[in-house]
Amino acid sequence: MLRRHAPLFIKPDGTWQQLRWMWQLLQQCTPARYEQNKARMVRLAEYSRDCLDQLRQQTGIHYEGRQQGTLQVFRTQEQMDNALRDIEVLRYAHVPFELLPRDLLAKAEPALERVKTQLTGGLWLPHDQTGDCQLFTSRLAQMAAQRGVRFLYQHHIKQLVVEQGRLSHLLVNSEQVPSHHIQADHVQAERMQADAYVMALASYSRQMLQGVIDLPVYPVKGYSLTLPLQDANLAPQSTILDETYKTAVTRFDQRIRVGGMAELVGFNLSLSRRREATLKMIVENLFPGAADLSHAQAWSGLRPMTPDGTPIVGHTQFNNLYLNTGHGTLGWTMACGSGRLLADLLSARQPDIAYQDLALSRYHIP
Ligand SMILES: Cc1cc2nc3c(=O)[nH]c(=O)nc-3n(C[C@H](O)[C@H](O)[C@H](O)COP(=O)(O)OP(=O)(O)OC[C@H]3O[C@@H](n4cnc5c(N)ncnc54)[C@H](O)[C@@H]3O)c2cc1C
Repeated sequence: MLRRHAPLFIKPDGTWQQLRWMWQLLQQCTPARYEQNKARMVRLAEYSRDCLDQLRQQTGIHYEGRQQGTLQVFRTQEQMDNALRDIEVLRYAHVPFELLPRDLLAKAEPALERVKTQLTGGLWLPHDQTGDCQLFTSRLAQMAAQRGVRFLYQHHIKQLVVEQGRLSHLLVNSEQVPSHHIQADHVQAERMQADAYVMALASYSRQMLQGVIDLPVYPVKGYSLTLPLQDANLAPQSTILDETYKTAVTRFDQRIRVGGMAELVGFNLSLSRRREATLKMIVENLFPGAADLSHAQAWSGLRPMTPDGTPIVGHTQFNNLYLNTGHGTLGWTMACGSGRLLADLLSARQPDIAYQDLALSRYHIP
């Protein structure tokens, strides 16, 4: 946290939820908890990848996707040694991997040959996939709409109303409301009712469920830059995760995206020149000359994090309310599997994977 390009930053946001969440997070920082949590996440992520493969085959969806694996690069011997623990989990979950010494990094990412002297090695996961998640979600929504799904954009859920042990209805502000009025109490809200409800409001899920369910989800802010490709020969082929700076550099067709960092600063989405400079430094350090740094598009987002890193997917104490939130840094990675799992639960089908330990009940909240 004290380094110039530190990946983690914490600022008190004045709420006890932040303090409690950090306390819960600290309790997860033991080797045993790490292994348990990582194993749960690998289970869901592997399932999600299979569901995504199926979806791609069935729909032909394109999102500048690449199926060429990901490479986590290390800059110190200590990082290489720590990777041995991850390898145990991967072995246990039958996830193919290769631990590459510095001289073999180019096998996974040829452009790293030029900078290998500053790296100690890497962990290559050849079955990992990458792509542009915004293209994926918007094209998937179009396909779903063509099949009859009705999306209500520009609608703001104001409140969940619980009556007699069930979620009775939602109060929703519709699109006619000017955005600066959207939270105002005097605005007339529409009542909406459904057979079943899935809470998927990411970091905002906790506030929405306040007084109904105590959800341990807190926003962890991250930044990304999208840069035009300048020289494809110098660029990554897929995704590189830099363990030192906790960032990922991803290749799209004609662009490179670099994203990462973790800030515990509440619901603040402001951009930061310092963070932008760090992200540019990392791209230029690993792939010098690959991207046009002068035309960077900056973005920030909030990752809905749980203290144990595992998302919360499944039933609640209300038989018509389900949760699909808390996916943290891996929301797309786990999206298709979480969606399929919930669809199975809602339809009273037996899910393909074990799911009890993904539900909220693991926090001893009914
Ligand atoms: C910099 C950065 C890089 C990342 N990189 C990766 C990556 O490489 N791979 C990966 O898998 N994940 C990555 N993530 C994480 C991923 O983006 C999240 O986990 C994911 O977006 C969570 O998805 P979600 O659908 O739960 O929530 P969101 O995508 O945040 O969607 C929640 C939606 O709820 C809406 N909403 C909130 N409140 C209300 C309300 N009251 N009424 C109506 N609508 C409401 C919001 O507008 C939003 O559209 C990254 C995140 C960041 C910040």
